[in-house]
Amino acid sequence: MKDCTIVGGGPAGLNAALVLGRARRRVILVDSNNARNKVTFASHGFLTRDGVKPAELRELAHQEFTRYPMIETLEDKVVEIAKVDEGFLIKTQRGQQWKSRKVILATGVYEKFPNIPNLSDFYGNSIFNCPYCDGWELRDKPLALFGIVDYTLHMSKVLLNWSKDIVIFTNGQKLTKSQVKQIEKTELRVETSPVHLLIGKKGMLEKVELVNGTVIERAGGFATPELFQTTKLGTLLGIKLNDTGGHHSDEVGNTKITGFFVAGEASNVYPSQLIIAAASGVKTAMAVNVELTHDGILGSED
Ligand SMILES: Cc1cc2nc3c(=O)[nH]c(=O)nc-3n(C[C@H](O)[C@H](O)[C@H](O)COP(=O)(O)OP(=O)(O)OC[C@H]3O[C@@H](n4cnc5c(N)ncnc54)[C@H](O)[C@@H]3O)c2cc1C
Repeated sequence: MKDCTIVGGGPAGLNAALVLGRARRRVILVDSNNARNKVTFASHGFLTRDGVKPAELRELAHQEFTRYPMIETLEDKVVEIAKVDEGFLIKTQRGQQWKSRKVILATGVYEKFPNIPNLSDFYGNSIFNCPYCDGWELRDKPLALFGIVDYTLHMSKVLLNWSKDIVIFTNGQKLTKSQVKQIEKTELRVETSPVHLLIGKKGMLEKVELVNGTVIERAGGFATPELFQTTKLGTLLGIKLNDTGGHHSDEVGNTKITGFFVAGEASNVYPSQLIIAAASGVKTAMAVNVELTHDGILGSED
């Protein structure tokens, strides 16, 4: 019997494991090691870790776990979580199973992009999704912005902090009258012809070629993806998704299923930042520890 099973080993799950391990709770962290930011070479904006490689951040966390014997880690995928009398029965893809008093779902989200040809060749190198994460590296460069028009219009205003030279590519999506009016008030350039090809070397964007033959030089940019939960483990237990796409929960990750918590982007999809996901993992771990204490379960000796 584990005190808590943490599903997902991104910043939310890792920080939850650290706090619970230090609280002498018997935790197991199961991770399928498929983080959303694995495509990028450097993560920014995380205090003391600005510019760290995503894999290095995880590696550092795992090194810290070695100080706490209560933390067990497993590279595997949780495929089933069933409610049982004492808590939950967890099953993994590789056939392991165990019981756990509490569960923290920290499984993150996956991204679905507008259908731009060969976008994936550039994503994480010179095309990103969040200016707070990668805007500094693209400052004052000629930028491309791809995505659903309403959202790109909103984002372009924020992006002006980093560059004044922005072209929105609607990739064939027509503009409404109100969108045209909004654009007329700005100096933004908008191209509605579908994108034929992104051109560049080693992931660094140089040009955008449109189906109508126009070629526009760009040195990078942003694409706005739609975000979806990576797993149905929560919804299969009856937890609904909220308007932002996260699982319904209170501010510390309590869901309607007693003992089942959510953290990181499994709980709040926005704002999408490593340090916010990590902080959410901390809050949820503390709530789990309090609930275990109320249940009369005290921390185990090493
Ligand atoms: C290209 C890109 C660049 C980014 N750059 C930055 C940046 O510079 N700075 C910043 O602050 N943020 C950045 N982000 C955002 C950041 O990656 C996320 O905010 C953060 O990773 C969310 O953390 P999380 O723990 O909620 O989920 P994730 O980091 O996505 O971790 C979820 C983990 O759960 C695992 N998992 C899923 N299902 C299961 C299962 N059934 N069983 C076991 N494990 C499972 C996954 O494999 C994954 O390892 C970037 C994102 C992208 C896409």
